[in-house]
Amino acid sequence: MRRYILVVIVAAAVTALLGGCLTATDVGPDGAPVDVTNPQKAKDSAVTSACQANLRAIYSMVQAYQAENGRLPTASELAAGPDKLPEEPAGGSYAIDPATGAVTCSAGHGRHPE
Ligand SMILES: [Zn+2]
Repeated sequence: MRRYILVVIVAAAVTALLGGCLTATDVGPDGAPVDVTNPQKAKDSAVTSACQANLRAIYSMVQAYQAENGRLPTASELAAGPDKLPEEPAGGSYAIDPATGAVTCSAGHGRHPE
C-alpha cells in the first residue's frame, strides 16, 4: 500500500514537470516570447520581421534618391548607390514600384508602404 502511494506521487510529479516543459515559452533576442513548441513558426516570423524592416529601410533610400534626383530610382540604381541594399533574408529580392516608389518583397513578406 505504501509503495502504491509513492508511485502515485512520483507519477504526479513527473506529469507536472513535463506539463511545465511543454507549455514553457522562451524569450527571443528582441525580448518577445518565442513559442518553443513551434521553432519553424518562430523562425518564419523572425524572417518576416527582418524583411519588413528592410522594406522600410529601402523605402527611406527611395525617398532620399527622389529628393536628390527628382525622380524615383529603380532597384538597380539604388543598389549602385553609396548605401548597400539590404539582402532579402529568405533569398528573395526587392522591387520598387516605378509609379509610387513602394517597395515589394518577392518572397511574399509584404510591401512598404502598404
Ligand atoms: Zn521578404
